[in-house]
Amino acid sequence: MGNARVLIVEDNIDNYELVRFLLERAGHTTMWARSGKEGIDMAKTDHPDLILMDLSLPEMDGWTATERLKSDPLTKQIPVVALTAHTLPGDRKRALEAGCDGYLSKPMNIALFNETIEETLEKFSKNRKTGGPRL
Ligand code: MN
Repeated sequence: MGNARVLIVEDNIDNYELVRFLLERAGHTTMWARSGKEGIDMAKTDHPDLILMDLSLPEMDGWTATERLKSDPLTKQIPVVALTAHTLPGDRKRALEAGCDGYLSKPMNIALFNETIEETLEKFSKNRKTGGPRL
């Protein structure tokens, strides 16, 4: 799809740099928030097309940040993909219950990362075309 605005919520600079590289290579624009709280603030002011959410974050963890984004009319339409080293089955379930629209584990499988981002953007852009929630 390309050309989407993606908010990366990630406190680890190496993970951030890798994700930014992959997204920009695919033609997307990125923004960076380093805590759950900053992620929420930027989602409200910058209205990204997609949010990549680390789960272990300072100030407010990614599960809580996602719950807040999904319960706010201003931000609930924005798809959230969790990106996390929490790979126990319970962690995935908890991320989806918090409202995440997708889930990726670290260390990353790059093909799966690209596929998940594009599929999520496409799914939510279809909603928009058919009169669904505004992104
Ligand atoms: Mn983290």
